[in-house]
Amino acid sequence: MSIAENIALVREKIDAAARESGRTGRDITLVGASKMTDAAACQAAAAAGIDALGENRVQEMRAKLAERAYDGVPLHFIGHLQRNKVRQVVGQVALIQSVGSEALLLEIEKAAAARNLVQPVLLEVNIGAEAAKSGFAPSELFRAAERTLSLPHVRMRGVMTVPPANADRLATCHYFQEVRALYVDIREKLFHNVPMELSMGMSGDYEDAVRAGATMVRVGTAIFGARHYDTGGAKI
Ligand SMILES: *Cc1c(COP(=O)(O)O)cnc(C)c1O
Repeated sequence: MSIAENIALVREKIDAAARESGRTGRDITLVGASKMTDAAACQAAAAAGIDALGENRVQEMRAKLAERAYDGVPLHFIGHLQRNKVRQVVGQVALIQSVGSEALLLEIEKAAAARNLVQPVLLEVNIGAEAAKSGFAPSELFRAAERTLSLPHVRMRGVMTVPPANADRLATCHYFQEVRALYVDIREKLFHNVPMELSMGMSGDYEDAVRAGATMVRVGTAIFGARHYDTGGAKI
């Protein structure tokens, strides 16, 4: 299957899941998680009409930017962002999806102010309270959203989550529901119900995420194929 065929299939499944909640596939933003793929794969996804591409690692993103891998498609940063790399990302991407601490938020504000721009972000919630994962605790998320509202060079565009990888389907669906509730609460109380993004769902669970109310899914493997970690990202 080609990347274009994979995208078409994923879109069909998204559309079917969206219809179960009174929406359609057009209401869902499909982000191709393109880590460890080459520029040609990104360009193929762009040509096939992917809505955005998302990268995890700053170094890889910069290398692929230089190769014009993302021309014609919005680029998102979706991975763990170290504070010392913030300046390499702010202003380079349409959306930083993975802002999971107040320190990172303030660093982004500083970098965006220095460049005189406003950086759209999602706040990441660590819904499984995993020690090894970044993200705001569920109990911190509302306060973080309030904090974001006070920063002139950061624009809060919604909420993002990656549930624990080892959770079974039922547990994952519960996590999705919990994040949706946090998102709805923030949107109602702080943003007067303006449309915002709820980014959740990956190759193994994007249909469940859409059923649970996701407006944005991040799909890698189901579009680009399996990642080959043992070859440093090169396709065999
Ligand atoms: C890699 C990645 C994805 C996509 O994962 P797949 O299982 O390959 O679809 C989604 N979100 C984030 C944050 C990722 O790092």
